[in-house]
Amino acid sequence: MSQTLQAIRGMNDILPNDAERWEAFEELVRDWLAAYGYRPIRMPLVEPTPLFARAIGAVTDIVEKEMYSFTDSLNGEQLTLRPEGTASCVRAVLQHNLLYDGPKRLWYAGPMFRHERPQKGRYRQFHQFGIEALGLPGPDIDAEQIIMCARLWDDLGLNGDGGIKLEINSLGEAEERAKHRADLIAYLEKHVDQLDEDGKRRLHTNPLRILDTKNPALQAIVEAAPKLIDHLGENSLKHFEGVQQLLKDAAIPYRINPRLVRGLDYYNLTVFEWVTDALGAQGTVCAGGRYDGLVAQLGGKPAPACGFAMGIERLMALLEAQGGLLEAPAPDVYVVHLGEAAGRLAFRAAEMLRDTGCRVVTHMGGGSFKSQFKRADASGAQLALIVGDDEAAKNEVTIKPLRVEAEQQRVPLDEMADRVGDWLYGADEDFEED
Ligand code: ATP
Ligand code: MG
Repeated sequence: MSQTLQAIRGMNDILPNDAERWEAFEELVRDWLAAYGYRPIRMPLVEPTPLFARAIGAVTDIVEKEMYSFTDSLNGEQLTLRPEGTASCVRAVLQHNLLYDGPKRLWYAGPMFRHERPQKGRYRQFHQFGIEALGLPGPDIDAEQIIMCARLWDDLGLNGDGGIKLEINSLGEAEERAKHRADLIAYLEKHVDQLDEDGKRRLHTNPLRILDTKNPALQAIVEAAPKLIDHLGENSLKHFEGVQQLLKDAAIPYRINPRLVRGLDYYNLTVFEWVTDALGAQGTVCAGGRYDGLVAQLGGKPAPACGFAMGIERLMALLEAQGGLLEAPAPDVYVVHLGEAAGRLAFRAAEMLRDTGCRVVTHMGGGSFKSQFKRADASGAQLALIVGDDEAAKNEVTIKPLRVEAEQQRVPLDEMADRVGDWLYGADEDFEED
C-alpha cells in the first residue's frame, strides 16, 4: 500500500470549521484596523536572506537556528521564507520610498516560517497579523498601539479575569543598553558556573537574552541581575512615562516587567507583550514595541518606528479556551429538489435569491427528499427551499423554516425573494430571535 502524503511537521492545514472562524476574526480585525487609520500592505513570503540577518540580528534565535533559508537552484540567490513581517515591511517602505510624504500606518497579515520544535501554540508555519507605524517619534503612537490591542480584546470578549494581561518595559537607547550590558556581563561572569549552555554562549554576544531565559534553574540569578531600567537616561524615562500616562488615562492596567526583552535586536525604548496563562508555556499572544534604528539600519534615512505582531493561532486558541469562538454564518437557504424540471427551476431560484444577497446552497448529487432534508438540516440553514414536480409545473416554490416551528409556505417564483427576505430579516419576530 502506498503511504499517504502528509503535510510538513509543524505546518498545519486549517480546515473549514477553523478557517471560517479565522475569516470571521479577520473581518473584525479589518474594521478595527480601519478605525485607527492603518492601511494594508502585502509583502512577498520570500526575501533575500541578508535582509533578516541585518534586521533581526545575527545572534538571535531566529537568525541562528530558526530560518528556512535555501539557495535558489536556478540562479544561486540566498533566500529565506520570512520568519516575521517587520523586516519585509520596512524593506518595502524603503524600496518604494513610502515615507516621502509623511508618516505611515501600515498592517499586514499572513504566514511566517520558523524552524522551531512544533508544540501547542508553536508551529513552523504560523500566522501573524502585524502593524507598523513609521515616522512617528512620540510615546503617543506607542500608547495608541497598546490601547488598540485592548480594544481588540474587548471586541473579542477577551478582557477581564483570566484574559490577556499587558506587560511593558523600556529598553532605552543604545548607549544606555551598552552601560547596562557591561554591568550585566560583569555580574553574570561572577555566576558563570551556574549558567546553562545557552547562557554561557550568550554571555558575551547577547547577554540581555539571558534575562529572558525560560530555564527555571536560572531564575534566581536573573532576578537579582542589574536592571536596564536603572540605567535609563532622562529622555528614555520621559518617553516611558509618556506611554504610561496615556495608558493610565485610558484605564488600561499594566505591569512593568523589567526583564521583558524581545528576541529581535531592533527594539529600543518601549516594548510590550500581551500574555495569558490560559495557553500553557506559549502564553505570549501579541508582542511589539519601538524600533527607531531599523530604518537606518536597512539603509534608509533615519525614521522612528513602532509596531507589534499577533500570533493568530494563539489568539484563536485563547478564544476557544475562553468559549468566545467567533462563529461563521451558516447558509440562509438550502435548496432541495426532485426531478428534472424541478432541478432546473431550483437552479434558477437559487440564483434569484443570490441576487438579493442570500447565502444559498443548492443540493446536488440527487437522493430522496428525506436524505436531502438531512443535508439541509446539517448545513445550519435557516430555510429550505423545496422544489418538486408539482412546484415545477406551476413555477412555484415552497419555503420551509428549518429552525422554528412554523408552517411552510408555497409561493409563486416571483414572490419568493420577498417572502424569503421576510423570513430572514424580519416580519416574523420568533424567527428573528432564533
Ligand atoms: P516566543 O517568545 O513565544 O517564541 P517570539 O518573541 O519569538 O515569541 P515574536 O517574534 O515577537 O515572537 O512574534 C509575535 C507573536 O507571534 C508571538 O507573540 C506569538 O503570538 C506568535 N508566534 C511567534 N512564534 C510563533 C510560532 N512558532 N508559532 C505560533 N505563533 C508564534
Ligand atoms: Mg520565538
